[in-house]
Amino acid sequence: MAIATREQEVVDKVNGRLFIGGEWRDSANGETLEVEDPATEEPLTEVADGTPEDATAALDAAVEAQAGFAASAPNDRAAILWKAFELLNERADELALLMTLEMGKPVAESKSEIVYAAEFFRWSSGEALRLDGYYKAAGNGAGRVLVLRQPVGPCLMITPWNFPMAMGTRKVGPAIAAGCTSVLKPAQQTPLSILALAQILEEAGLPPGAFNVVTTSSSSDVTKPVIADGRLRKLSFTGSTEVGRTLIAASAENVLKVSMELGGNAPFLVFDDADLDDVVEGALMAKMRNIGEACTSANRFHVAETIADEFTEKLGDKMGSLKVGRGTEEDVKVGPLIDEASREKVAELAKDALDKGADCVVGGEIPDGRGYFYPPTVLGGVSDDARVLKEEIFGPVAPVASFSDEEEAIAKANDTEYGLVAYVYTSDLKRALRVVEGLETGMVGLNQGMVSNAGAPFGGVKQSGVGREGGNEGIEEYLETKYVAVNL
Ligand code: NAP
Repeated sequence: MAIATREQEVVDKVNGRLFIGGEWRDSANGETLEVEDPATEEPLTEVADGTPEDATAALDAAVEAQAGFAASAPNDRAAILWKAFELLNERADELALLMTLEMGKPVAESKSEIVYAAEFFRWSSGEALRLDGYYKAAGNGAGRVLVLRQPVGPCLMITPWNFPMAMGTRKVGPAIAAGCTSVLKPAQQTPLSILALAQILEEAGLPPGAFNVVTTSSSSDVTKPVIADGRLRKLSFTGSTEVGRTLIAASAENVLKVSMELGGNAPFLVFDDADLDDVVEGALMAKMRNIGEACTSANRFHVAETIADEFTEKLGDKMGSLKVGRGTEEDVKVGPLIDEASREKVAELAKDALDKGADCVVGGEIPDGRGYFYPPTVLGGVSDDARVLKEEIFGPVAPVASFSDEEEAIAKANDTEYGLVAYVYTSDLKRALRVVEGLETGMVGLNQGMVSNAGAPFGGVKQSGVGREGGNEGIEEYLETKYVAVNL
């Protein structure tokens, strides 16, 4: 199927080559990598398939640019970020279409991601001007303590396919604000958004070498020599816990500073005093944002047993009414999953729950035709041993289980190795605070189905990660503290 002219135009605007040292170049071996539209299973375009040699060249460029970039005026770095923030917003429509083509989500959602992604540049633009230190008298009154904040140095960033733009700007924004140079390797399924970002940063006046992009189909081979290179100072990764673990181990060799935004298994707790219509709205947001392919997706609904049936029915009605289709089509609310493997995993988890006694309230059947579509699915009465409650679903399936009291709700919520986010719905303030304190997560949505906010510290505990992105904490990941003992 040929793609529409407008779609072809936005794809053709992307420079599909590697961005290294401020120049666009082919990969060392001239190979390319195909990018597919998950809604049609048709190729969209090709981009350079980077090699380990290209990644080392990108690190060379980042290292060469580092000292000059660290010494650049904070005002200049703030101005570049502000300009890039404006360009992202000005081009939000075409960037949203580009994202939908490579990733699948509806265009309106892609546009929300572009706006969210730009917010990290707006926030970081301000942060560039707030890098501070301090000077104080030592305890003995004789000496002085001088504390400086300095950029960590060259960084490697690895981003996933599910939020192709925002997972990049959430790292690149604070890195630029702090004065760190970087090499970014986007996911092979969605390289176009980050290449478009490189074009924007170039246009915004970022100096050559301060930001480099290497697209590749061999992520492990290409990043290994960079991680092992003594000149790299930091690795910032967003992706699965499984891959994060291996990258932490590889980073140990040179004792790299690491930031890890990993997998989640968010519980969504509903107490019997909550407003059920509000709950269903929040549940829809927490479950269906990004087609359920978000680390923050509500993975399992634990509902007070007295209202579990009513909640399940209402959620089923809402989810069943969402239009499924190609994200470029009007009124579509649910696009395709990223690939066949993801769809198979989602179908397998739903089947396992049904085999263990759950009811299929809505959905559950893979539709015929092209594209990796899976319908919004609600499973009621899910038993405790169902895999869907334990494993990250990454798709539009909402399993509902019940609890009898607050203690059981908290215990069930915490019964996982993950600890990214939890959602809590209750109108009782004391209960809300007790539950929030008892949850083992880095974030909580309290009577709210979405937590993402550029001005807040995003991140997880347990096996969901190390470090925070966004908020005042986000820039800390890109700064070192130097203490000077001053003899007066
Ligand atoms: P993934 O398989 O871990 O891949 C993430 C990135 O790592 C991709 O760029 C991938 O490249 C690369 N990669 C894979 N194996 C690698 C290796 N051995 N060495 C170096 N790089 C490697 O995760 P995903 O499937 O793309 O993303 C989904 C996961 O990300 C979910 O678990 C989700 O919860 C998590 N996530 C977490 C957050 C958060 O903030 N906590 C946000 C979004 C997503 P290729 O594309 O070439 O495989």
